[in-house]
Amino acid sequence: MMQAKVNYLMGLILTCTFLLVIFPLNSSADVKVIISGGYEKISSFNEKKIEFISLSELAATAGGRLDWSVVGHKISFKSENARFEFLVGSPYFRLNDTTHNLTFPVTLKDGQLFVPAERFLPYLDRVSGRRITWDSSRREIRIDSEYFNVTDIAFSSKANGFLVELFLTTALPYDVLVTEGNWININVRGGTVNRSRIISRKDRRFMYNLKAEQLENNTAQISVRFKREIKTWNHKIVQNPPRIQISIADANFSFDTTKHIAPVGPDNKIDVIIVDAGHGGRDNGAIGQRGTKEKDVCLAIAKKLAKLIRKDKQFKVIMTRDQDKTVSLEQRAAIANNSGGDLFISIHANASPKHSVRGWNVFFLAPARNDSARSVAQLENSYFLRERSTLGTHMEQAEQTDDIDPVLSILNEMIMTEFQEESHDFAMMADREFRSKLKIPARGVDQAAFFVLNKVYTPSVLIEAAFISNKTEEKLLKDKKYQQKVADGLYRAIKRFKSKYESK
Ligand SMILES: [Zn+2]
Repeated sequence: MMQAKVNYLMGLILTCTFLLVIFPLNSSADVKVIISGGYEKISSFNEKKIEFISLSELAATAGGRLDWSVVGHKISFKSENARFEFLVGSPYFRLNDTTHNLTFPVTLKDGQLFVPAERFLPYLDRVSGRRITWDSSRREIRIDSEYFNVTDIAFSSKANGFLVELFLTTALPYDVLVTEGNWININVRGGTVNRSRIISRKDRRFMYNLKAEQLENNTAQISVRFKREIKTWNHKIVQNPPRIQISIADANFSFDTTKHIAPVGPDNKIDVIIVDAGHGGRDNGAIGQRGTKEKDVCLAIAKKLAKLIRKDKQFKVIMTRDQDKTVSLEQRAAIANNSGGDLFISIHANASPKHSVRGWNVFFLAPARNDSARSVAQLENSYFLRERSTLGTHMEQAEQTDDIDPVLSILNEMIMTEFQEESHDFAMMADREFRSKLKIPARGVDQAAFFVLNKVYTPSVLIEAAFISNKTEEKLLKDKKYQQKVADGLYRAIKRFKSKYESK
């Protein structure tokens, strides 16, 4: 399927080049957007034979939201489950944290954002629940929602087990495979899957992950990773409407929350917030020039945050520690994973051998892309390794962090991407609150491989509230007003996150 798309695209590019040679277009004009039977016109202009369309108007016609950040000319575009980030004047953009190249720079004109149609629309198509095609000769964008034949998925609890139903528009050949790690994989041959619809059915209460992929051999693959072991299961195809049913007939496969599970559709409540005060007990964390211990600052902020969340009856808060005690990496993860946490927030203070370095940071879990982020993760991770060595396990190896890193980094790679989008999203929300509340330098959102985030099966961030190694910020970190501001910012971001992900 992807291959077919690439070929199709290549064809388009060639056809387009050919037509442009014969019929050069250069004046400002409109492009037709054909959607649900009718059509609308959106602004476009042609520059050096490249058609640029107004993304602002496309969003208004086809859905999606543009967020402008005038400083630095950053513009993000959110459509269904995808997030695009553009930089005005640059051909590079980010799509859910990977970088792509449009060849031609995005442009601002008459207060609207213009993107090169032919290069941009295939990306939108890839992440959209609808088929989006660009016809360069007619200068038309076609948005077709009747394109998929693997349309939806539903989960429901039964008296003695669980039922998964995959909806099709017609009966198609398929197979079901249960693989290690409690994965159920459904391959539908000749299937074209509505990815964003299916992914939106992810329910954190009983699954770790839900994936929908369009494989190259014209096969749609839907994979669900359940939290419980799958022992006995069978499958069949039924009609009216056509769907594949997989019954997991196993008493063990029962969930605490089954009685609340709606028969169809999502119920992704975000109500359990895990607040993780960094370090504690034998682990002081970093120590400031005036002797302030990171562990004490982390706990003070964590308590203020927990208090705010507790007051809000729509949430339940769980702290990994509420006093000065040692909590291992495994204990922190167990507390988060066993409580059905929907969001994990780890609170820290940063440190640098350069005492002049200042500012706050918000991190989410993904491979680090710069040395600065990498060094923050190495510092935070080193405390867990040190703790392990004082407990007498792997005494020698723990001293040499390199011996442990490779194993953990393999695990990292596997788990890292699982909640990346939501974690990044929450990090951006916290960033927005901090920028307006905290009057110290904004170091912003970054990504790195933190052990503590990697063990948690839920969206998670790690914040560095300020630099304890800087005298001014050490004072701030001890200041109750500053601690409260950090807690307020996080609380507001939590509410934002809840309203966004629950309304999906
Ligand atoms: Zn720390």
